[in-house]
Amino acid sequence: MNAKCRAVVISCMDFRFHARLYEFLQREGLCGQYDLVSIPGACLNYTTKHLVEIVELAVKLHDIKDSVYLCHHEDCGAYQLQAPLQEQISCQAQDMRSFARQVQEKFPQLTIHLLFFTLEGDQPMCIALNEEEE
Ligand SMILES: [Zn+2]
Repeated sequence: MNAKCRAVVISCMDFRFHARLYEFLQREGLCGQYDLVSIPGACLNYTTKHLVEIVELAVKLHDIKDSVYLCHHEDCGAYQLQAPLQEQISCQAQDMRSFARQVQEKFPQLTIHLLFFTLEGDQPMCIALNEEEE
């Protein structure tokens, strides 16, 4: 097999930010260059959904050497957080960081991007991999 691509994108399935996610990925030069995993809450249920194994499979099948994008968003129905934006971000960031650490351990060569989309802004916010950096 000779199929290669550059990244794995793990995104919440919510349609409300996908147009902007796609635009963002295009700006990153990743058009047609990523495997897409779209599930409710993205990293929310990563332990039960074997998300690490999915990344592993993508890396194996498509020789991915660049990056992993974790894409969460405001007002996520899977999280059901009736909370101010900052609280939504910090709660979801915990899951993203925890998942990112597992992926990083297994694939130290991959750069992991933690992205949070608000429902209005056109650029996602980048969340630091380590809390201390915020
Ligand atoms: Zn969601």
